[in-house]
Amino acid sequence: MKILVINAGSSSLKYQLIDMDGEHVLAKGNCERIGVGGLITHSTADGKKIKIEREFPSHKEAFLAVIEMLTTGEGKVINDMKEISAIGHRVLHGSEVYKVSTKITDKVIEDIAAFKDLGPLHNPPQAVAMKACQEVFGKDTPMVAVFDTSFHQTMPEKAYIFGIPYEYYEKYHIRRYGFHGTSHRYVSMRYGQLKGKVEGTKIVTCHLGNGSSITAIKDGKCMDTSMGFTPLDGIIMGTRSGGVDPSVLTFIAEKENISPSEMSDLLNKKSGFLGISGLSSDARDLVNAAHEGHHRAKLACDIVRYQIKKYIGSYAAAMGGLDAVIFTGGIGENSGELREEVCEGLEFMGIELDKELNDSIHGEEKLISTGKTEVWVIPTNEELLIARDTKEIIEQ
Ligand code: ADP
Repeated sequence: MKILVINAGSSSLKYQLIDMDGEHVLAKGNCERIGVGGLITHSTADGKKIKIEREFPSHKEAFLAVIEMLTTGEGKVINDMKEISAIGHRVLHGSEVYKVSTKITDKVIEDIAAFKDLGPLHNPPQAVAMKACQEVFGKDTPMVAVFDTSFHQTMPEKAYIFGIPYEYYEKYHIRRYGFHGTSHRYVSMRYGQLKGKVEGTKIVTCHLGNGSSITAIKDGKCMDTSMGFTPLDGIIMGTRSGGVDPSVLTFIAEKENISPSEMSDLLNKKSGFLGISGLSSDARDLVNAAHEGHHRAKLACDIVRYQIKKYIGSYAAAMGGLDAVIFTGGIGENSGELREEVCEGLEFMGIELDKELNDSIHGEEKLISTGKTEVWVIPTNEELLIARDTKEIIEQ
């Protein structure tokens, strides 16, 4: 069975075609600049790489280009689009309605579009992409929605209600939702497979990329997570602020005469690594600059490592123990330096990193500690989990 996994943004459409017999990626790619131009990059498992400029007035033309890439020319991996049994869509926000992955119907698409207040940048284009996908593939090809928020729906009320008047939760559904759920679910599931047990385990998963979140997982279920109502809360990220004292925002807004949308821009696009360092949003740039003595780059590195350490400690307290810390995402999988600094001083919690091994691990699944509380690097694979969910749901 072959499943197409789609991760749509407002102007992009990432895809992977996965053969579920053996779970191999046959081809993957990205359509960019939808609506403002068009570029498709496509690569196959046997190493072919194609890059073509093409006009994509809408997601529909992008889907047509994906099919063309998969079925014709140098990058061809299937003979006919009918070989695609189902399509799995990554969706940012499922609100409190979608607690698990769900087969897509017209009602599901309507709901996803209707959650636009909760995921303004992602949900509307994802609903548009689903409709375009239906137009291209026809309604006989089943589609499944896999939500970034679903995994976190097991959080208890005390972890997701904010300390503001309760009426805003009732009126606008303002609460902690959490994101990167598919990644946290994937790495925690891998940990469960590696250890041969899920019940009774207490782990903290650190997804650290351009966006970052940390999750407390007990018995395989999310207990708490660092991102909140939107993917802005928690630790500092590439360009996002993470959590700040809320009164700082009203203070700046008044002093600088900033509108709510300008404030959102400041917090989402001009803060975090970029805002603190004044240099770059990319963790590698900061590490390099810090080594060369750039104070604010080093400060950004210090802050994020300190914040991660604090989350690990607080989540261990919340769960009443800790069996393992798992690092994933571009930074978590690759930065031995960050992992070492995060773990430093946590020996009292049973964390003892194998420093030499830690230094040598880049994007491989590996236990990198010797102490009672394990530290793992587990590369994430959200696409595979989306494909697995899709297969499971269409076979029901
Ligand atoms: P996204 O959240 O967009 O999926 P990724 O998970 O790919 O992002 O993570 C991108 C981040 O990973 C960037 O900040 C990049 O600098 C960082 N990164 C990748 N390799 C390394 C490395 N060797 N050391 C430190 N950071 C790294």
